Amino acid sequence: MNMAPESRIHVIFANNFPISDMPLSFDNIEIAFRYRDNKELKRANFLFTSMNSPFLSKMGMKATQWAMNMHLPVKALVKKTIFQQFCGGETIEEAAETSATLGKFGVDVALDYSVEGKEEEADFDHAVPEFIKAIEYAATQNNIPFIPIKVTGFARFSLLEKIHLQQPLNADEKAEWTRVEERIHKICAAAAKCKSMILIDAEESWIQLPVDELADAMMARYNKNELVVFNTFQMYRHDRYEFLKVSHVKAMKEGYILGAKLVRGAYMEKERRRAAEQNYPSPIQPNKESTDKDYDLAVAYCLDHLDTIALFIGTHNENSCFKAAETMQQKGLQPNHHHVYFSQLFGMSDNITFNLADAGFNVCKYLPYGPVKDVVPYLMRRAQENTSVAGQTGRELGLIRREMKRRGI
Ligand SMILES: Cc1cc2nc3c(=O)[nH]c(=O)nc-3n(C[C@H](O)[C@H](O)[C@H](O)COP(=O)(O)OP(=O)(O)OC[C@H]3O[C@@H](n4cnc5c(N)ncnc54)[C@H](O)[C@@H]3O)c2cc1C
Repeated sequence: MNMAPESRIHVIFANNFPISDMPLSFDNIEIAFRYRDNKELKRANFLFTSMNSPFLSKMGMKATQWAMNMHLPVKALVKKTIFQQFCGGETIEEAAETSATLGKFGVDVALDYSVEGKEEEADFDHAVPEFIKAIEYAATQNNIPFIPIKVTGFARFSLLEKIHLQQPLNADEKAEWTRVEERIHKICAAAAKCKSMILIDAEESWIQLPVDELADAMMARYNKNELVVFNTFQMYRHDRYEFLKVSHVKAMKEGYILGAKLVRGAYMEKERRRAAEQNYPSPIQPNKESTDKDYDLAVAYCLDHLDTIALFIGTHNENSCFKAAETMQQKGLQPNHHHVYFSQLFGMSDNITFNLADAGFNVCKYLPYGPVKDVVPYLMRRAQENTSVAGQTGRELGLIRREMKRRGI
């Protein structure tokens, strides 16, 4: 379980430029929830209470998935509950409202078209203009600097698996891969033109090699003079801290900025299960402590090299966020240094996001949007994560209930 940091930083930096009179604390619930009205807070209380029960959560997830597959009319119910908690809306226009609300409190947005699980070329082609529309929309706003993408949104999973295994591709597969590269190029080119930034999400370890190679190629092309592309490093993998350093050396050699989005990783159970079933060594760290250690080492490494690395700290871990902020302070870095961003997912850890924003740090919410039926895999991951990660739901629930008590509702 995450422990709240004991000491508190007073946010006054080496050059004595006071960013805020407040000490940085993730405990200020009034700041954390000031963008949520009473109704929204009650809904969050209901949801996190349900997710706190593994039985209810499992039943809820199964029933939702079944009902959606059977085309039963549950969309309205899903939309009013878990969807509203974790998603910005079904369309860009709907997400725009949420994004504007976040902006009022100094919180930026990574606008995430979160449609998953497509496997057809027509779907991959269709996704490109959807992302370009998001990039162009983001360019008209002053608080949407990032657009996240998943390579599996543009490529067949089994094609990625084959490339990962370095198996030879036949002529059709080669052409298919060229189309994938072109789709990603188009998106990065649009982002470069609109001065947006693309975050390439990390996915399962058995398809990650082509994702990394594609990300490197995009950074080599677009990060020479500007900062456009970030790759993602999952620190629950025992080899990724070394890989981060190797990626950095490569970036320096080739003269581009390494965009490094650091996360712990979302597919731990799946990774371990597959490794056990197929009898190969698990790529996952032996325990949570090793993941935490590498995460914080990776953040420190990036903060030591901000001239050649842009860092995106994607985590709900209070200790990691606090340590990063503290290191920035010790180094005399401005909290809004243009190469450091903190980020949490929409609907989670508002205490971190809004308190960081209040103290002047660059912070953004990953804000997913898309048709309800298409974001169900994302919602299931959030429900699972909030059920299975020890401490996470209890912590969210505790904060929500304290704020409800404070408001007298
Ligand atoms: C902005 C943002 C973007 C994200 N993008 C991605 C992405 O592109 N790809 C992706 O995979 N995930 C992504 N995630 C999800 C992320 O990887 C984590 O699953 C989630 O954030 C929980 O980790 P944490 O650091 O927030 O918190 P914590 O609660 O401190 O850590 C929980 C995480 O620790 C690790 N862990 C838990 N138990 C163990 C154990 N026994 N042994 C080893 N490790 C353990 C797991 O990764 C688990 O998810 C993103 C998260 C955020 C906030």
